[in-house]
Amino acid sequence: MSPDAPADDVAHPPVEGCPFCAIVAGDLPARVVWETGLVIAFRDIAPVAPVHVLLVPRVHVPDALSLDASHAALLAELAVVGRRVAEAEGIASSGYRLVFNVGDDGGNTVSHLHLHLLGGRPMAWPPG
Ligand code: 5GP
Ligand code: ZN
Repeated sequence: MSPDAPADDVAHPPVEGCPFCAIVAGDLPARVVWETGLVIAFRDIAPVAPVHVLLVPRVHVPDALSLDASHAALLAELAVVGRRVAEAEGIASSGYRLVFNVGDDGGNTVSHLHLHLLGGRPMAWPPG
């Protein structure tokens, strides 16, 4: 890592074997729909809704349990990228859902923080 890397990159180095770090690095293909300095958004490989995009920090934050106040800018950018993607996908006015799955009961399977953007159909509540 370069000595002038941003502090967040130093705090959260890429993790060997992490699929989302590999996508960020360009080592694993993905259907990218939006990119900013902090966030990459790409289509889920197994979509559960007509629009299913994963909003992913470029740095390896393991999950929502790892978040603290130092991640405020990252969290804001995740939400803003969600809005931009929803607008680009034509679902901003019909509505959409943003979901962090956390831990076993939350259904988390990939240990690299990601916010699901789901839309294009009505979402049930409560979720399954
Ligand atoms: P989780 O269950 O951890 O909240 O969500 C992980 C999501 O990542 C799942 O919806 C799964 O389909 C998706 N996923 C897992 N591996 C890959 C991958 O290599 N590429 C893409 N685009 N999505 C993936
Ligand atoms: Zn990772």
